[in-house]
Amino acid sequence: MNTDPELGDNLEALSTLADMGYIDKDSAAFGIAQQYFHEGFDSLSEKQRAIFNKHISPVIGKACGVCGEGIEMSALPNAYEEGKMLCSYHMYQFQKDD
Ligand SMILES: [Zn+2]
Repeated sequence: MNTDPELGDNLEALSTLADMGYIDKDSAAFGIAQQYFHEGFDSLSEKQRAIFNKHISPVIGKACGVCGEGIEMSALPNAYEEGKMLCSYHMYQFQKDD
């Protein structure tokens, strides 16, 4: 078993995004996203990569509007909820000043 703590966080965030309606939990894309977090992009077949790129990348491949760094998976549900695409650091800065 993989005990990477980040994996659990990522899967939880993925599930949260699905609950929020950004990814369909019953879709092939959701299963492919889970496989991506478990085994990496290299484990996906060409067909799965196409689905991933079309349905998952646009949802989870977000860049911070301030620093341009990729937003951590675990920070994404909050970013969507706030309607602000910010990494966890800049979200903290934003909320602190609010
Ligand atoms: Zn940032």
